[in-house]
Amino acid sequence: MDLVSLGELLIDLFPAETGKRLVEVSAFTPKPGGAPANVAVAAARLGASAAFVGKVGADFFGEHLRAVLEREKVDTRGLMVDTDARTTLAFIAQPDHDNEYIFYRNPGADQLLRPDELNRALLSSARALHVGSISLTDEPARSATFEAVRIVRERNALVSFDVNYRPALWRSPRSALTQINALLPQADLLKVNEEELELLTNLTDIEKGSALVLARGPKLIVVTLGARGSYYRTTAKSGYIPGFKVTAVDSTGCGDSFTGALLFQLIGHGMNNLDSRIEQALEFANAAGAITATRRGAIPALPTAREVADFLREALPGIGLESDE
Ligand code: ADP
Repeated sequence: MDLVSLGELLIDLFPAETGKRLVEVSAFTPKPGGAPANVAVAAARLGASAAFVGKVGADFFGEHLRAVLEREKVDTRGLMVDTDARTTLAFIAQPDHDNEYIFYRNPGADQLLRPDELNRALLSSARALHVGSISLTDEPARSATFEAVRIVRERNALVSFDVNYRPALWRSPRSALTQINALLPQADLLKVNEEELELLTNLTDIEKGSALVLARGPKLIVVTLGARGSYYRTTAKSGYIPGFKVTAVDSTGCGDSFTGALLFQLIGHGMNNLDSRIEQALEFANAAGAITATRRGAIPALPTAREVADFLREALPGIGLESDE
């Protein structure tokens, strides 16, 4: 298996009307969500073999989410079903009401994945494991996440970690930092955005901040910068990879598209010869993220390998590769 992605798989409820507080919205549209699930689909669309490990409730939302993954050719042998808790729901707040973002998860099935439920054969077969911090908020999913990382590291496979910090899901920023800092030294690839890098380092300077985090263990730090592209640092080198100019309509799923594409590029060679390949891999990931920005939703917006190749062919000689910094 090229990639096993572990964590939350849930239903995102998008307000049907814009510019309103959640209590004023009269209708919501349900869509499959959960960052690690999106990453699995992103890699599968590009041609990787991908599996998802997590937990849904014994309800029609859970059945729907399994069907979505299967339709996308993501292996669901590691997707467990909880008979007590419901499939987690997330209400997506409007841009001007960010603080209203709310998870229905008291607990939700995604938090209840237990270490003894992990499909060890599947994890042992993985060339890469991707996790985020949402599966670290509560037990037993936290222990299951750390156990999966342990199994994969034992085989020297690649561990990828997207900090994906959601303050509302944690008791305090301090408890988030404790868990994130515990996982960080076990990750080969760390993906953050600028706010998350500041959370981890208390530094707003990307170059200094990434150096500080690199010293804690990961071999590669990647900072996503929205339309500006991305920044990376390895022990040998660092640099900005400019974003592509596109007409963006919705940033949902861009980070997951980017991460799935980067993993797809890295998986072939693990972390060997990283320095000779990293810039090309990030250009490919920037392209996947940019394409996703031009489409609505997360999973429906993830590109195929053909779409990224066509995009890169057209973007390179034209106005692409331009930073708006
Ligand atoms: P996140 O904050 O979830 O990590 P970003 O919004 O930074 O995600 O997007 C991830 C990547 O997708 C960026 O690094 C960039 O390569 C690409 N991307 C996102 N938004 C745009 C955009 N408006 N134009 C071009 N590329 C974009």
